Amino acid sequence: MNALEIKNVGKVYGNGKVALQDVSLLVPEGSFFALLGPNGAGKSTLINILADTVHASSGSVSLLGHELFLERAWCKRRMGVVPQEIAFDPFFSPREVLKFSRGMYGQKADDAWVDELLERLELSEHAHKITRQLSGGMRRRLLVAQALVHRPKLVILDEPTAGVDVELRKRLWDFMRELNAAGTTILLTTHYLEEAEELCDQIAIINQGKLITSGSMKALMGEVASSSLCLQYAKPLQLSEEDKASLADFSPHICGDKLCLTLNKRGISSDFDVVYQAAKQRFGTPADVSIRQEDLEDVFLRLTATEQSNSEQGG
Ligand code: ADP
Repeated sequence: MNALEIKNVGKVYGNGKVALQDVSLLVPEGSFFALLGPNGAGKSTLINILADTVHASSGSVSLLGHELFLERAWCKRRMGVVPQEIAFDPFFSPREVLKFSRGMYGQKADDAWVDELLERLELSEHAHKITRQLSGGMRRRLLVAQALVHRPKLVILDEPTAGVDVELRKRLWDFMRELNAAGTTILLTTHYLEEAEELCDQIAIINQGKLITSGSMKALMGEVASSSLCLQYAKPLQLSEEDKASLADFSPHICGDKLCLTLNKRGISSDFDVVYQAAKQRFGTPADVSIRQEDLEDVFLRLTATEQSNSEQGG
């Protein structure tokens, strides 16, 4: 079962801006899903469509088999969305905000869960202040608590940890991991790609409103992330046109004082040997050899940069 099935979703804003084009992706139930893309890619537009604050121009979405655009009430009870902007009554306390939110979802009071949320989001000390007195970071945490208060099956977090310090971010992620392990599907956008790589088992990358890739993180990192063999020579190399042509299969480039040769796939040892022998034949035995594997950030930058230059070339 998929938590979400997004089919051919498009969005054209009133001013003619095409923010999403024919985006289709599946979010498996129980997954920890990273929706990534550079600024302006269309991530918030997609999340706002899911949250019903923006209307899709085309396409359909189903949540746990129910049509999102047709069965809003059913879907809303099973979704918790953390928006980027804050909208509480400034005179309510965090505890009141959480209690009322449960009521709005038609659920009976659950003080134990409210207490747990306040504690896990490090708001217990501030539970009785009015929200106007809370810092920006505390208000963001309250938004996360609010999205979780009705125990949704799917939690959608738009940059949940923006501006949150490292230690607290770690604790928040631990909590998200626990929720995920207990069966909650989590979809998030984040600029912290290292954290996304560590936490998420599914990923989609969008750029300029279009889906570039989606699927399991493992498959992406296995199939798309490349490895480089980095060779250091006693005397720094300068690549002639002839050198470049002879090693063209391995995209030779100089990185600092090293010659780096790229393999298409991660960790296939026979390929390393082929590359190493090719370099050795041309430049002799290197003084030092190391291997560099692309991480998610490298892959992300490469995929989104290629798309950018392709679309520029395409006009
Ligand atoms: P992201 O969240 O990935 O940064 P957004 O979904 O916010 O991207 O924006 C996608 C594109 O749509 C951007 O070019 C943005 O300027 C544009 N956009 C967003 N909201 C509106 C709006 N209300 N009206 C017109 N254009 C918008």
